[in-house]
Amino acid sequence: MKSDFTYDLLIIGGGISACVFASKYLKNNITKKIALVEIGRGLGGRSSTRISKRFKGWKLNHGSPNFNISNSKNNLLLKSYIDELLENKFIKIDDSDTFFLNQDLNSDTQKISKFSCGFNYLSLGSMSQLSQKIIESNNLKDQIDFYFETLIVDLKFNDKEWVITSKNGDKFKSKYLICSTNLLLHKRSLKILNINQIPLRKAISINYDKKIDLLLNFLEEQTFIPRLTFLIYTNENYSYKDFYSKKQRYFYLRKNLESKYKFERIIFQKQDNNRLGIVVHTKNIEFFNSYIIAKDKEVFKQKIITNFNKLFEDSSVVNKLTFDEKISIMKWRASQPTGTAVPLSLQFSRKCRIGFCGDWFEGEGFGRIEGSIISALMLEKQMNDLIK
Ligand SMILES: Cc1cc2nc3c(=O)[nH]c(=O)nc-3n(C[C@H](O)[C@H](O)[C@H](O)COP(=O)(O)OP(=O)(O)OC[C@H]3O[C@@H](n4cnc5c(N)ncnc54)[C@H](O)[C@@H]3O)c2cc1C
Repeated sequence: MKSDFTYDLLIIGGGISACVFASKYLKNNITKKIALVEIGRGLGGRSSTRISKRFKGWKLNHGSPNFNISNSKNNLLLKSYIDELLENKFIKIDDSDTFFLNQDLNSDTQKISKFSCGFNYLSLGSMSQLSQKIIESNNLKDQIDFYFETLIVDLKFNDKEWVITSKNGDKFKSKYLICSTNLLLHKRSLKILNINQIPLRKAISINYDKKIDLLLNFLEEQTFIPRLTFLIYTNENYSYKDFYSKKQRYFYLRKNLESKYKFERIIFQKQDNNRLGIVVHTKNIEFFNSYIIAKDKEVFKQKIITNFNKLFEDSSVVNKLTFDEKISIMKWRASQPTGTAVPLSLQFSRKCRIGFCGDWFEGEGFGRIEGSIISALMLEKQMNDLIK
């Protein structure tokens, strides 16, 4: 049965930006009712955790494993929010071992990755739990209804309200709409949702709102980095060669090594039962494309183990794998935005009562959690100031 739901505010997407935005909004609007609509089974989006139904007990962060703040000095809003997360014990400073492997397979300490510069933070639970805790900490009056496994496919705007429609026909209505994903604003939606017009363009016709036109123009130039993550569930007796006991351990590969082994980085993730999960990231485009067309995906799993063993052949800390490990694969067609970032001045349209947040906005945090958090904080502040 199709239903109609009416709220004060609708949020599309349940990634970290949506959670930060919703949390702040709930704190400042204690009487409002919100709906958060997400296609996934839970919160976290690209910074979430795979809780496998097949491999019981394993929780592997399959997107972003932690996050870094490259520069909070000039941004008090961001700095005080990170302090809040630290005080609430949702995150801690990530002092895990980080190796940057060079061509001679030695490691050095010079930080080479955009994912590790500045200050690094680790969720005290899993990455999905971080998003959950952020939102729940201010959802004290159950003001928010979550609709998971719900894909929004259509947007409509009239002067009175927004009406968003899910694939199965449910309609959600409200005066204000927040899009924390740019899928419904971007040309990739045409193929993914099998539609013939970008949903936001369909909802707001050209020349109605200059801000929306500009936003859509900027997004024309935005593309996305595809990635594969291989989740390796190691055997019961698998361990490090040394006595390392922290929750995560990172190995980044320098450019030459990356093109040789096809790995971008490898993250060891200790589980609650002390077993070691390993997540291998690759953004090599030929590797990604050959994976997409391959009929036998098992070949890729074997290749990952072969390369892993070669890479760590002489390692003093990492043991080889045995080829009988279970592996699952996560395919990210749009793991991070790249190309043109959208100016923050286009985050909110008063005329259309729509706001946007996520890692696709300009700034040092573009394409990372840092950018998602800043954009969410700024959007909430802007909306609060404007709506008052
Ligand atoms: C493999 C990988 C590794 C990464 N590593 C790092 C790292 O080390 N450090 C770092 O800072 N960043 C990293 N990133 C990037 C980081 O994960 C993102 O910047 C961040 O999680 C984005 O959060 P967000 O809330 O802006 O967007 P998202 O997490 O993408 O949230 C948007 C949500 O909207 C949902 N959605 C989309 N369309 C619809 C629709 N039509 N209807 C309903 N729901 C919809 C999506 O399912 C998603 O949950 C990595 C990303 C990947 C994929």
